[in-house]
Amino acid sequence: MRYYSTRSRSGGVSFAEAALAGLAPDGGLFVPEEIPPYPDTVRKSLGSMNYRDTALETIKPYVKADIPAADLEDMIHSAYPFGAPLVSAGDRLVLELFHGPTAAFKDFGARFMARAFAFFRRGEDKPLRILVATSGDTGGAVADGFFGVPGISVTVLYPKGRVSPLQERQIAGLGGNISALAVEGSFDDCQRLVKAALADGALRKRTALSSANSINVSRLITQAAYYAAAAGRAAAGRTDPDGEATPRVCGAQKQAAPSVVSGPVIFSVPSGNFGNLTAGLYAMKMGAPIAAFIAATNVNRTVPDYLENGSYRPRPSEATISNAMDVGAPSNFERMTAHFSWEQMRRAIKGIAVTDDETRGVIAKVRLSSGYFLDPHSAVGWEAADKARESLPEGSPLAVLSTAHPAKFADVVEPLTGAVPMPAVLAKAMEHRASFRVIPADVSALLDLL
Ligand SMILES: *Cc1c(COP(=O)(O)O)cnc(C)c1O
Repeated sequence: MRYYSTRSRSGGVSFAEAALAGLAPDGGLFVPEEIPPYPDTVRKSLGSMNYRDTALETIKPYVKADIPAADLEDMIHSAYPFGAPLVSAGDRLVLELFHGPTAAFKDFGARFMARAFAFFRRGEDKPLRILVATSGDTGGAVADGFFGVPGISVTVLYPKGRVSPLQERQIAGLGGNISALAVEGSFDDCQRLVKAALADGALRKRTALSSANSINVSRLITQAAYYAAAAGRAAAGRTDPDGEATPRVCGAQKQAAPSVVSGPVIFSVPSGNFGNLTAGLYAMKMGAPIAAFIAATNVNRTVPDYLENGSYRPRPSEATISNAMDVGAPSNFERMTAHFSWEQMRRAIKGIAVTDDETRGVIAKVRLSSGYFLDPHSAVGWEAADKARESLPEGSPLAVLSTAHPAKFADVVEPLTGAVPMPAVLAKAMEHRASFRVIPADVSALLDLL
């Protein structure tokens, strides 16, 4: 499989080259030359395979020229000791993507990416340094994914005082090959510093450099797996038992399980940069039984507007309580348009924007009616599904993606629901001591340190 830039159909590269480079030299995003369909035997057993086998079958055709099957299997086994349970909550299904070590869905992409990088760099003696700018969740997931990987060090830049204490400990609490820089500035400053360092010729001569942001194709492909696994189970009318970390309090009123509906599923996807939704489109095109998607955004409604009227107008982002989705110019949009026309997207995706007031309202309502705790991002997905209902095919199972554990956003959630149970991984992260350096938002300060 070759990978091309979204901006040119020439000069294809291998999966390894696309993953290590991150961004294409012309500034475009890497996309695979085709989205390969699942073999019939795999497609028919998606509902009964375990998570790792589904991940293996999903990723294999994209990487087989670069990663031998046995190595891929090892990578997937070590990346995913956790899965993606599909549980029922109230009148619908929730696909819980927060059972990884940092309790947000970015663990799925970051953990596979880390193992792929380590594999591609084996036998190299020049160490690789990865630079990543984060507004919160990505930094923790990348730090955790690469922690202890030999030959690779990670430097995370985050805006000082603008991430939560929990996120800061996830980024800066590990030590070892992970270092943290608190930048006296904004997330945009952090991104600017990373870009400048990556482009610095003198630095590149001394160290191999890469970045690990969310547009990396190695993160995208692995995320298609949880859609396929969940769609397979929903199509068969099956759910998973509540996991230990499922945020439902004992004794909370549970509604009777929803009448079992089966068939192709509708996914509601809380979206910001649209990597997650793009991965869903890949799973659908590969043949997973998916009826449609809801692109659920907060008031940063660039994509819902595009789906509505066909004109793409990126704009500055507005701050909301679902802040991991505060994106006005979603980078993966370029990937979506590389694969699908506006008409094709309109057939597959319904775009819905949700306000902060609606988000707060649905967090309180769902806790009361079904005992389930939603984090602000997942709540946007839930509310968008309610708003989209009339315009969706009837009789299909509906699954909301839950992208983060509610305890990660306790400051927003708890005033609406009461105390949120803290999963063990987050309690453990809170015990770490954050250790970081403060630097001014100034390129020379970063270059001096590196
Ligand atoms: C990153 C993130 C999102 C948005 O995902 P995209 O792939 O950027 O659309 C949603 N929810 C949470 C909790 C996130 O961390």
